[in-house]
Amino acid sequence: MVYSKRVDSRKFDQPREIEARVGIIKRADGSAYFKIGKTIAIAAVYGPRELYPAFKQNPETGILRCNYDMMSFSVTERKKPGPTRRSVEISLVTENALLPALDLSLFPNTVIDVFIQIIQADAGTRCAGISAAAMALADAGIPMKDLVSSISVGKVGDKIVLDLNKEEEDYEEGSTDIPVAIMPRNGEISLLQLDGDVEKEELLQALKLAKKGCDEIYKIQRQALKERYGGSAQDEL
Ligand code: UDP
Repeated sequence: MVYSKRVDSRKFDQPREIEARVGIIKRADGSAYFKIGKTIAIAAVYGPRELYPAFKQNPETGILRCNYDMMSFSVTERKKPGPTRRSVEISLVTENALLPALDLSLFPNTVIDVFIQIIQADAGTRCAGISAAAMALADAGIPMKDLVSSISVGKVGDKIVLDLNKEEEDYEEGSTDIPVAIMPRNGEISLLQLDGDVEKEELLQALKLAKKGCDEIYKIQRQALKERYGGSAQDEL
């Protein structure tokens, strides 16, 4: 079916408006706010700190523990508080998306806790959470090979589009949603999920679009870090 114009009039390769900030939760070691359209994620990092119970400690490496959740009021139909199968899965893919950017052997016996809360949801929340978490890790001063930038691409009707909102995800008989996370400097993909159907050529086209979207997000993430730390954060990243 022909999808001739996006529901919010964006170009097919245009993300929603993006805003990012770091250092928003003073008690945390690192924190960040990431907004893309109506989707808002906040992330707080605690650690590296000693891992308990102690038998879980590994003298060779630290571990990363991510916890993703959506606030009850983040969606129009109240979300019941507490973990769900979905939040457990998203926490796990978030960990896997962030791990390639870190060298946890620097922090034996420790844990780095990353808490991600979605305070407003309009699709693309796992991606917004990953982009926020990467900034919060950098804000916590944890050495990183690169930031991780994340955005969703997909197919709505007959078009490959960047950054689907909820209305597009639910469009007609359903769209294809492909959340992607990339370490922009070397182009390594650390998250790739696919919900729906897509041809090989379309997937390649979608991945190109995701790279373009992640490059845009990367600029905004770095800018937010630069605003807090001046030139030095740029040099360290
Ligand atoms: N959603 C919802 N209630 C839920 C879970 C999800 O309304 O309990 C909405 C929310 O807007 C979310 C969207 O469905 O962003 C898509 O969810 P999905 O599982 O595809 O993950 P996301 O795109 O947010 O990473």
